[in-house]
Amino acid sequence: MLLNHHYTKQVYDQLAKRYPYQREYLQAVHAFLEAVDPIMASKPTYQKQAILERLVTPERIISFRVPWMDDQGQVHLNQGYRVQHSSLLGPYKGGLRFDASVNEGIMKFLAFEQTLKNALTGLPLGAGKGGSDFSPQGRSDQEIMRFCQSFMTELSHHINEKLDVPAGDIGVGEREIGYLYGQYKRLKGVELGALTGKPIQANGSLGRRQATGYGLIYFLEAMLAADKKTLEGQRLLISGTGNVGLHAALKAQEKGGLVVALSNRSGSLYDPEGLDLDCLTSLKEGGRINLAAYKGHYPQADFSTASIWARPIEAEIALPCATQNEIDAQMAQNLIDHGVHYLAEGANMPLNLDAQHVFNQAKTMTWAPGKASNAGGVAVSGLEMSQNAMRQSWSLDQVDQELQTIMHQIFDTCQAACQDYQLGKNYAAGADLAAFNQVVAAIEAQGLV
Ligand code: GLU
Repeated sequence: MLLNHHYTKQVYDQLAKRYPYQREYLQAVHAFLEAVDPIMASKPTYQKQAILERLVTPERIISFRVPWMDDQGQVHLNQGYRVQHSSLLGPYKGGLRFDASVNEGIMKFLAFEQTLKNALTGLPLGAGKGGSDFSPQGRSDQEIMRFCQSFMTELSHHINEKLDVPAGDIGVGEREIGYLYGQYKRLKGVELGALTGKPIQANGSLGRRQATGYGLIYFLEAMLAADKKTLEGQRLLISGTGNVGLHAALKAQEKGGLVVALSNRSGSLYDPEGLDLDCLTSLKEGGRINLAAYKGHYPQADFSTASIWARPIEAEIALPCATQNEIDAQMAQNLIDHGVHYLAEGANMPLNLDAQHVFNQAKTMTWAPGKASNAGGVAVSGLEMSQNAMRQSWSLDQVDQELQTIMHQIFDTCQAACQDYQLGKNYAAGADLAAFNQVVAAIEAQGLV
């Protein structure tokens, strides 16, 4: 879809000229501008106020080097980042990603998406994102600890519980957050709310680990319920066996769904009878599930190095929970051809722009954007901040109830925007417009910031 309004076009062209190599950032901004483009004609003051420029441009980007020593005594240098995108709705809030692919453009896309996502949660959260091109894969525990300590030595100058509250993302789980928090404490003293996603033993919240995956299923249930459907008996394809994919699979199964295929970086595993998730979790080796080994337990299963999205597997629901741009137009068509009617993003921007367009044009396809459907993680991070501030520790049930309420509210918000703007079931555009209106209201309330 093209941008039609001169203002959206101008904003995009300026960014494309200034940041030609920041592909993911330009993509995320383009998708957003496509959604808000139709309302620009009725909002002539936005251009004068530079609303769009102020919305897509981060308030601050911090970039620093991270020196660390491996177990052999070799010194390495990685690049660290924190993009503090928006403080309009509260302290900067968002995860840290440790992955070889990390660069400034990826950090900027994630921080921008986070701004809209955090607005949708209804919690007082601004947005940021950070991380490093360091890959924890194959590194020893000691190496990871030393890396985290070095990373935090610099990051600690830029965060605190009132200013900026990082959490996890790809490559950063409770172990890493624990090491990061330990170092933060040595440098700046005890401050429970400086990071979220902390281990339970270190003032973390019950339910945070499961939150993104469970939240994704709660959102999916609401989306199905709007069409008078449930998860019972539905066949699911899920990419990613990390924190998000695995917990989504477990919750989907608990709700009567049949997870027929799962994938990770090694390949994809298909079992027409439904995967035994207990067996799969027992196949964890060095932090990653050995999908190929499953065949030893269930001979009918089929492991392939092909992408799960390129395989001819019949299913009704797809949950991409791995990473950005994992689904292209051809894969999107493949899903439609094999019966997939619903897709909810567990990852951030797993559909490339062409795939989004394929789905938007397909009458049989309903899909939910990550900024709405994967907001459960950051929502429970918000609840962790509340608990830390109140010096309380809520029960798992209380956190889960709150999570369900928040995910259902996010769905209602997207649905209401779809009604207001006559978008049918284009929840992606609905989410962007609802978040946009909320952030614009905060911009207008705060003057020229
Ligand atoms: N990285 C997660 C996300 O993409 C969680 C962020 C957080 O908990 O602050 O939303």
